[in-house]
Amino acid sequence: MNKWFLSAEIFSLIIIVILILNYYERRWREFPQRKIYNLCIVSSTGAILLNILCVYMINRVWDIPIWANILCNSAYFLLIVTVSSIIAYYLMYLLFEHIYQRAGLKKFKNILILLYTCYTLLVIWNVRSGIIFYFDENRIYHRGPLVNLGYGIMVIQLFLLVIFTLRNRKCISEAMRHVMRILPPVILLLTAYQIVYPDVLFNGGIIVAANIILFVNFQSRRVEEDALTSIGTRNSFHQELTLRLGGHQHFQIVVVAIHQFGSINYRYGHKKGDDLLYEIARWLENIHAMGRCFRIGNVEFALLVPYRGIVSSGNMLNTLSRRFHQPWILDDMKVVLDVSLAELVCTDQDWDATDILEFLKFSLSMAKEQKDHVMRFDESVYRKMEQRNQIIKQMERCARENLFEVWYQPIYNCRTEKYSAAEALIRMKDSSGSPVSPGIFVPLAEQHGLIDEISRVVFRGVGRLLSEIPEEKLGSLSVNLSMQQFMSSDLLTDIRCLVEQYHFEPNCLKLELTERVLAEDIPYMNQIISELRKMGVGVALDDFGTGYSNLSVVLDCLFSCIKLDRSLIQEYTDNERCSTIVNAALDLFHHMGCQVVAEGVETEEQAEALVARGADWIQGFYFARPMPEKEFLEFVFQKN
Ligand code: C2E
Ligand code: MG
Ligand code: MG
Repeated sequence: MNKWFLSAEIFSLIIIVILILNYYERRWREFPQRKIYNLCIVSSTGAILLNILCVYMINRVWDIPIWANILCNSAYFLLIVTVSSIIAYYLMYLLFEHIYQRAGLKKFKNILILLYTCYTLLVIWNVRSGIIFYFDENRIYHRGPLVNLGYGIMVIQLFLLVIFTLRNRKCISEAMRHVMRILPPVILLLTAYQIVYPDVLFNGGIIVAANIILFVNFQSRRVEEDALTSIGTRNSFHQELTLRLGGHQHFQIVVVAIHQFGSINYRYGHKKGDDLLYEIARWLENIHAMGRCFRIGNVEFALLVPYRGIVSSGNMLNTLSRRFHQPWILDDMKVVLDVSLAELVCTDQDWDATDILEFLKFSLSMAKEQKDHVMRFDESVYRKMEQRNQIIKQMERCARENLFEVWYQPIYNCRTEKYSAAEALIRMKDSSGSPVSPGIFVPLAEQHGLIDEISRVVFRGVGRLLSEIPEEKLGSLSVNLSMQQFMSSDLLTDIRCLVEQYHFEPNCLKLELTERVLAEDIPYMNQIISELRKMGVGVALDDFGTGYSNLSVVLDCLFSCIKLDRSLIQEYTDNERCSTIVNAALDLFHHMGCQVVAEGVETEEQAEALVARGADWIQGFYFARPMPEKEFLEFVFQKN
């Protein structure tokens, strides 16, 4: 009579049931690898149950027909190798996750099938030969000479996995590498224990150990998944890029950025907005059999597909572009999304994942400015990005070494015929000493958090000048502010400190806000304007007429002065449409009690016509260009 200890098997059964309860409690989206894991866990449970059943049957061998015992044990020997083959295939599948060339996976699958077929034939042959197990004439179970053959097959599988891991270590994720570091030794150790102590049935323990290691790996992988769309996150995109680059693979990335998604949330509700994002993720995910999709920003998706030449990459981009011209329909919602697409192809360039993310971000910012909202990253985009980086570096240097300068452009008062105002304009030179237009570097400073530094320089210059030169000689000075600075809670305190530090009359200071960035929160903006007005500081709307804001919004604001943009003024005397707009604006704003400045006046004809039509102030090259402080002071002293 065989005396076997089943406690380890029963304990393994309990553990695997707990594992199953945890696994199926979550609602996973079906990925191919999850289907394989389902198979692992189901076949593992089956193997443990079958082992317990075999022991039970062997112990009641006189009550149960011998053929049933042989069948059950043969099935067990087959199932145990089935489990190890599924686990091995599952691991190999994950190892190939970041590799486009799947020939190796196919080869591994073929080896598994070959081993499995040979083993199956031996198990069938065992019925006659008893090489694995047999029952003697007293119906006593005996182990055959090849009873450990299943372990041998498992060792071959582990060996192949280790070899593959070592050969492709650069394109294998950290989680997988970790699994491959712990799984083989744990399994080999437990197997050795089972071989040394065959009476303590422990195969279930080996299987459960493997399943737990895989499950834990699963759990950690889930952290890298976006909760809303169940696709990769920005972090996993970075990791994926690193692995693909490590394996010298060629791939194409297309980033889709959705604009004004807030309006969809506003119109249809956040739930619908979320559903739409989920839908987009599903569509992107299914666009290519080997494609992987990531949500790299709130409303930004990245699609990563293998690169198969210029034609197919062009087709991929077109497919995406075409789809986003079509409406997305979800129940009662039907919307056409406004998107920008940025594309990048990586073949054998010397880039890392961070470079690629930067290139994509820059391409996306350029895509927004294109007519079709599509930008393919190439040499010219790279050069532009380099120029931009140079400018940012130079700004940082200027901030560090105090190299920014403040120039002043005098503004002509049409009533008093004096230059009783001026606009302070920041100036910067590049590393070769050539001036860089603030139209270029100021927006970059806003994006890269350097705008406060620029404003500090301008405010300091303006404050000092206002404190040194009497008001009747200099008049007022205006300073440009970005909307984010204007809306900052520190603005009022900063202005009060400036006035106190330099002791000047607050009404000599004016602030300018460009029409391009008029905030949506007009009530809060008006509150700040009122506070500033109480202090005596006027606020002007700059660049009116560039067409960025609604006239009714402008009229709702409490500006004391409106500056008509150069684009309107330059055609004032030649273009009837422009002159009609300017004249109407002059009447309208005067009626509202605002002063009007005409910006960008370059000819005598324009100046005369604007004076005749009632403009309050004129700023432009015709009267004076922006100039350094010293020249500016000479200019006003001489002219006034
Ligand atoms: P802006 O505030 O509208 O400033 C007027 C711009 O028009 C200046 O360009 C000025 O040189 C230019 N301009 C004036 N008259 C004429 C003219 O008759 N013809 C032509 N072609 N141009 C004229 P600049 O100095 O290049 O500044 C460009 C923009 O950069 C400014 O437009 C302003 O939005 C921004 N900026 C300049 N300095 C600062 C600053 O200190 N802070 C912030 N936030 N923005 C600034
Ligand atoms: Mg201005
Ligand atoms: Mg302007």
